[in-house]
Amino acid sequence: MVIDNYNFIKEDIVKTANDCGRNPDEITLIAVSKTKPLSDIEELITIGVEDFGENKVQELCDKYEHVSKPVNFHLIGHLQTNKVKYVVDKACMIHSVDSIKLAKEIQKEAVKKNVICQILIEVNVAQEDSKFGLKVSEVIPFVEEVSTYPNIHINGLMTIAPFVENPEDNRQYFHTLKQLSLDIKSKNIDNVSMNVLSMGMTNDYKIAIEEGSTMVRVGTAIFGARNYNI
Ligand SMILES: *Cc1c(COP(=O)(O)O)cnc(C)c1O
Repeated sequence: MVIDNYNFIKEDIVKTANDCGRNPDEITLIAVSKTKPLSDIEELITIGVEDFGENKVQELCDKYEHVSKPVNFHLIGHLQTNKVKYVVDKACMIHSVDSIKLAKEIQKEAVKKNVICQILIEVNVAQEDSKFGLKVSEVIPFVEEVSTYPNIHINGLMTIAPFVENPEDNRQYFHTLKQLSLDIKSKNIDNVSMNVLSMGMTNDYKIAIEEGSTMVRVGTAIFGARNYNI
């Protein structure tokens, strides 16, 4: 079931990319396995899936430790500074960096573990009160500051678009994030690349791909609805 769903989404991504003149190989599908059992991850590993998304540090670390072969775990959820030490050498990429305090803590813990931490900057493009992330206007000064942290590498930007009935309504936000990444790229800041745009989820990944997404984070369409009460 999970394998069929994954393959369906993967094919849909290829089709969507081809239809808008993009190379499908530029787009990574992250299987968002949060709240789902390790057995679901293991099933996908049998067909070669390597990228999984988790939004809680504890759950990411548990799965990291128990999975049968090494795969990439992306931390996509909000990260508290006191948890950085557990995850800095386990997450392949932290998608949710949105404060200097957090970046400083990542720098500090990355030195201790002797790693370069790969990050994305989370941007609250739609300016929803309920969401984390920097304002668009805050991003460039933030990038300039964090680019000087030797154990952090900024790979790009991430956003979580609003939950909407019509995914077309989110196109504007994806478009804004892409423009912002181009603005940053044109500044050629040392230690900063803008190769990753993490945007698009089950409801809106197609629109996100049309607007330039390079990482879509899909949970429900692969693993089914989540039950947070278990
Ligand atoms: C849960 C989650 C997703 C996946 O959402 P679906 O709608 O289930 O595809 C993607 N990104 C983040 C940050 C999430 O927390």
